[in-house]
Amino acid sequence: MDAITTPDLIRWLDGFARKVDAARDELSALDAATGDADHGANLSRGTAALAVALADAGAESPGQVLKQAGLIMVDTIGGSSGALYGTVFLRMAAAVGLTATAIDAAALARAFDAAAQGIVDRGRARPGDKTMLDAMNPAAVAFADARSRGAGLPAALREAADAAAAGAAATVAMRARRGKSSYVGDRSIGTVDPGAASVALLFDAAAEMAATPP
Ligand code: ADP
Ligand code: MG
Repeated sequence: MDAITTPDLIRWLDGFARKVDAARDELSALDAATGDADHGANLSRGTAALAVALADAGAESPGQVLKQAGLIMVDTIGGSSGALYGTVFLRMAAAVGLTATAIDAAALARAFDAAAQGIVDRGRARPGDKTMLDAMNPAAVAFADARSRGAGLPAALREAADAAAAGAAATVAMRARRGKSSYVGDRSIGTVDPGAASVALLFDAAAEMAATPP
């Protein structure tokens, strides 16, 4: 696989929806430690709506599917993560364009950078603030780095997913500076940020999609 077509993208997003559904209680429990215990419920509402919409998305371009995904997430997730996930998908759509029939590795690298920048712009988050960005940013960097070493798309996505997981794990030591968990101050130290954990699922789903072509 050297580019992501619409059927590939649908498999990726369906895989993400399944992972979010399976992790729903765990994500909400992470949010309970520092926030309002709803991240799993919020996000799974969005990915369930997304999975329904994807069933009719086969004729659209990958960019159109990403744009539709972003709009669904804004409408259905709610909370701060709804606006942020919406921004992630809308920025990726803009980066790959609405007319291309597939997303090649160069376009995907631009899309990941744009998604990370979207979290910065929308959430005013910076690296180390204990947010989604702390999984998104390492994933985008690892993907670009793997490509520069000549890795193919499946290998580069696996490196990105591993970096996202490591980034999420590293949020345990961070003190939250954005969002609801910033209100609890030092008590935010010691648990994984739920948004970073869910972003790691997004990249894990991408790597699994690329590793298992249909
Ligand atoms: P809410 O905080 O409104 O209850 P969720 O619980 O669904 O929304 O999502 C919480 C996650 O959203 C956090 O774990 C964090 O990763 C992310 N988040 C919240 N605010 C910001 C922000 N300003 N910038 C980046 N990410 C943020
Ligand atoms: Mg919450």
